[in-house]
Amino acid sequence: MYKIAVIPGDGIGKEVMEATLHILDASTIGFEYTFADAGDELADKTGIPLPQKTIDIVKQSQACLFGAAGETAADVIVKLRRELDLYVNLRPVKSYPGTKSLFEDIDFVIVRENTEGLYSGIEEYTEEGATAVRVITNKASERICRFAFEYAVKTDRTKVTAVHKANVLKKTDGIFKDNFYKVAEEFIGIKSDDKYVDATAMFFITQPKMFSVIVTTNLFGDILSDEGAGLVGGLGLIPSANIGEKYGLFEPVHGSAPLIAGKGIANPSAMVLSAVMMLEYLGEIEEARKLEESLITVLTEGKIVTEDLGGTAST
Ligand code: ATP
Repeated sequence: MYKIAVIPGDGIGKEVMEATLHILDASTIGFEYTFADAGDELADKTGIPLPQKTIDIVKQSQACLFGAAGETAADVIVKLRRELDLYVNLRPVKSYPGTKSLFEDIDFVIVRENTEGLYSGIEEYTEEGATAVRVITNKASERICRFAFEYAVKTDRTKVTAVHKANVLKKTDGIFKDNFYKVAEEFIGIKSDDKYVDATAMFFITQPKMFSVIVTTNLFGDILSDEGAGLVGGLGLIPSANIGEKYGLFEPVHGSAPLIAGKGIANPSAMVLSAVMMLEYLGEIEEARKLEESLITVLTEGKIVTEDLGGTAST
């Protein structure tokens, strides 16, 4: 029996969460849910978008499923990432049938460092304009690279590629790259290579099948993840995971979509795939595959799909 914190949040977050829990309940694995509040609706009522009680519930659980937060997303999800030290942002780039993917058979993941880099928040005005500090530490570089290799082992992938710009950012990305190859030595069964970020942006479009696991720093990972989303047909089907030493939080990449909320037409696939990632994180690999393959069957048949995929089905 796994203890799962459930934060449905706002808008379609609530709708896709309900659908996903319904599916998880059909699994032979037992889940015990603890529901917690966060987001716009809660902020309207209480003035606080992310109460301490919600953080505590997540800390007392083995994993957290998160739906969506609207306007308060920065105060909710960014704060949760920091409070729980979720240093990995994991985004699969995978083509599914019946979607607007530019290629078939794309299947790689981006492992993005989530705590430092150019998003360390150190900025200041100068006489000429402003500067931002790009913080790269040995500790954070090593742990994100180690996560990427361990993830490759766990999910039967054979190659990890470090993406950087060490020819220009010689010191910061030099440290990132050195840590990558140091960690690579411990994983003899996994191939390792590295690419410049600009070349990688092009290879996503020209030769996306060359990638298996990509590990990269914060800003590069942010940009490449969205390029990856575009590559496989947009936000509707894209899950993500935020992972740290102690906690894991799984959420669709889309937001609360106020324009379609309340109509019962949201596509639950991204939330279902977030649950697949949670099952992988919990080590329930077989159950994860079963759930993902069921979704692929439904998408391939194309009979029961939501409006965004050209169908008429409800959530
Ligand atoms: P927020 O302010 O919470 O980020 P948003 O509407 O700006 O919400 P998204 O929630 O990412 O951003 O959605 C943008 C649009 O994408 C939606 O209006 C909707 O048309 C479409 N969309 C997003 N997620 C889904 C989904 N699960 N099913 C169907 N359409 C979706």
